[in-house]
Amino acid sequence: MAKLTILEFPDPRLRTRASPVETVDDGLKSLIDDLFETMYEAPGIGLAATQVNVHKRVLVADVSADKSEPYALINPVILEKDGVTTTEEGCLSVPGYYEEVERAEHIRVKFIDRLGDDVEMEAEGLLAVCIQHEMDHLEGKLFVDYLSEAKRSRIRKKLAKEQRYRSADAVAL
Ligand code: ZN
Repeated sequence: MAKLTILEFPDPRLRTRASPVETVDDGLKSLIDDLFETMYEAPGIGLAATQVNVHKRVLVADVSADKSEPYALINPVILEKDGVTTTEEGCLSVPGYYEEVERAEHIRVKFIDRLGDDVEMEAEGLLAVCIQHEMDHLEGKLFVDYLSEAKRSRIRKKLAKEQRYRSADAVAL
């Protein structure tokens, strides 16, 4: 297993639309293992392959406090949504920023699991929010897209500046 590098907004690669997975082979299983390791170490409760610059429709999530409810969703599709919930969301690709986003409170989602089996599942609350957030990543969409242009541009400028400082430090070493 390996910890992968997470792309950060405004990296344009985060805007890539991911392609469907054709076969669940060993390479895909090891990608899933790496996504879990990277997410747990960050730490985060969800991670989409897009965020580590792999443009396949794969995401992982675990909203439990003790890493006991890992979900890997391959080619996820939302079949039904209902209700509205507002959550203060953050994102490993937008470090340090948290903003309220409205999403469906309850979803029914179908996907292929790590074993290659078709699964249909109901999710609500934080897990439902997390799956919707990660599925947005697969479309090249970020939670900051739900904010006003002014707010998004402020975040973009601050993060771009921090990233410049960080790379300047790297050269200085
Ligand atoms: Zn995210």
